[in-house]
Amino acid sequence: MTRLQDKIALITGGAAGIGLETARLFLAEGARVALVDLREDDLDAAAERLGGGDDVLCVAADVSSPEDTAAYVAATLDRFDRIDVFFNNAGIEGRVAPLVDQTIEDFDRVMAVNVRGAFLGLKHVLPSMIERRSGSVINMSSIAGLQGSANVAPYITSKHAIVGLTRAAAIEAAPANVRVNSVHPSPVNTRMMRSLEEGFAPGGGADMQKQLQATIPMARYGESIDIANLVLFLASDEAAFITGGQYPVDGGLAAG
Ligand code: NAD
Repeated sequence: MTRLQDKIALITGGAAGIGLETARLFLAEGARVALVDLREDDLDAAAERLGGGDDVLCVAADVSSPEDTAAYVAATLDRFDRIDVFFNNAGIEGRVAPLVDQTIEDFDRVMAVNVRGAFLGLKHVLPSMIERRSGSVINMSSIAGLQGSANVAPYITSKHAIVGLTRAAAIEAAPANVRVNSVHPSPVNTRMMRSLEEGFAPGGGADMQKQLQATIPMARYGESIDIANLVLFLASDEAAFITGGQYPVDGGLAAG
């Protein structure tokens, strides 16, 4: 018996990085998955990498848009009839600059994708879960949702907001047996991290990587599979009594 046998999982930001790796793991554990992403080309490539077939639905959508959110949730329900697991994962890093140099547009763009997008996803997915009295939502935050750091104030703000959103949603959904938790990775080896390294040290990515890894007690970046394994546990019935929590997956960073 696999751990997500016959479950339906919806994953935003599913065409790359942590979202794509989680989709791969979920499929291997018996789920069918709907992948939502802004980038259509990457969605096509992701579907091919995952072996395509009827177990994978791809929907191009911008999670910050109310219309797109309603459409991607409706497309998933049309195709699979229900949503058992929602990995509310899509996010952007924003610009690397001191807070005083961040513009209103910089701030609003990050908040629109990372916070409004997560809120809209919950708003549209929760009703059918509550009606069925079953479901698990995993909201993607970050170590940046538990700690501050310099030069990424909009991102830090957005990932702290995910903690509030998770706690509020968990309390409302718990009586209906629907769980809502957040995960908090330290830097993970994905395209987003390459972009942040470049923002912190233009042209000096390798040195920046060493510096950042040296701040982590386990002295390495996470790999997408490290995060996917935690998301799988929270998605599965093994986590049936776990809700409203914040779970670091960070090589010891939050312990410092
Ligand atoms: P990634 O850039 O590899 O993947 C993110 C995906 O989200 C991309 O495919 C992108 O096209 C999609 N996306 C971006 N904006 C979108 C939008 N408006 N609508 C729909 N899709 C959109 O990055 P990743 O590292 O896999 O990041 C996934 C999540 O993990 C993000 O929320 C990120 O903040 C979080 N996170 C990442 C790290 C890290 O170091 N990589 C650490 C902690 C948390």
